[in-house]
Amino acid sequence: MTTTIAEAVADKADSTANLTNSTFAEIAEVLRHHESFLVLSHVRPDGDALGSEIAMGLALQKLGKKVKVWNEEGLLEKFAFLPGGELVSVPPNEPEDFDVVLALDTATRQRLGDNCLAAVGKVKVWVNIDHHPSNPRYGDLVHIDSIAPATGQILFELLQSQDLPLDEAIAENLFAAISTDTGSFQYPNTTARTFEIAADVLRCGIKVGELSQKLYESYPRRRIELLRVLLDRMRFDGDGKVASFSLPLATAKELGVIPEDNEGLIDHLRAIQGVIVAIFFEELEGGKVRVSMRSKDERADVCAICVSFKGGGHKLAAGARVPGALDDVAQRVTAAAVEAVRSL
Ligand code: AMP
Ligand code: MN
Ligand code: MN
Repeated sequence: MTTTIAEAVADKADSTANLTNSTFAEIAEVLRHHESFLVLSHVRPDGDALGSEIAMGLALQKLGKKVKVWNEEGLLEKFAFLPGGELVSVPPNEPEDFDVVLALDTATRQRLGDNCLAAVGKVKVWVNIDHHPSNPRYGDLVHIDSIAPATGQILFELLQSQDLPLDEAIAENLFAAISTDTGSFQYPNTTARTFEIAADVLRCGIKVGELSQKLYESYPRRRIELLRVLLDRMRFDGDGKVASFSLPLATAKELGVIPEDNEGLIDHLRAIQGVIVAIFFEELEGGKVRVSMRSKDERADVCAICVSFKGGGHKLAAGARVPGALDDVAQRVTAAAVEAVRSL
């Protein structure tokens, strides 16, 4: 068994809570000794969710396994370039049985999506691989490494340490996963190990310039038109330490934007001098508001705020879906954020 530094640190953190991660060797054994697999990740998938799903799907295919890769939203337009992207589909209407289901990068079972969960029939083994500290450790084999900046980084460690398939297409997906979840290797979750892994991933043959251009310089124009509207609605609270903007459903419809267009726009708020907490409120169908939060200071723990609204995530990046009207939810969540930054 290979123990990485991140794994050792995570194991140490876990042992204090009397929780032990399944080892990579144990997970690899399950991958090698079963035949049919389903790979899942969270609703509103990001680059880490889809990159991790596709990388795992490709690796299992190379092992000669029967594999399905589902996501509640299918493959997003903006990630359609990822090699192996055609593996991803929306879940079918009738339930299917699998030997093994892998839940990747998904903080709670519920976030796998109602349609995905309804389409999962009988399962022998559930595997949960993630890096969200709020993950309640659902599943039979659980590996949560909250030090890892991306689930893609954990998958790289798993594939490499256990001699599982790792080719250029898999590497490209892992790079997309790690690059997007670290804000292009800028967020404080980026460790020396992350750069070592990035170097190994590049050695698999990927072209970092081309890939980054597809990830970060190929936005549809409607995304920037959405940004213009959002900046017009920007507000500051708590002496300028909390910045937020909100998107009413009617405005999203007028602009013709689709949900994937707004990922990352919150970074414009976080990037403002003096802002500690950034919040994006998005009105959803069905009387709920999607809350997205970012923090620049661990003392303002946005995961704790989101957990208090039944969401979760990481200290510096978290989210929740809160029932209620847009303005009302915005007011309540903003008040909690203002409270969190008051003494900073
Ligand atoms: P987002 O703001 O959607 O990019 O999410 C930021 C982080 O919070 C991600 O790591 C998500 O997985 C996590 N997160 C977002 N929404 C929720 C939720 N409703 N429940 C638990 N975790 C969430
Ligand atoms: Mn994710
Ligand atoms: Mn992630």
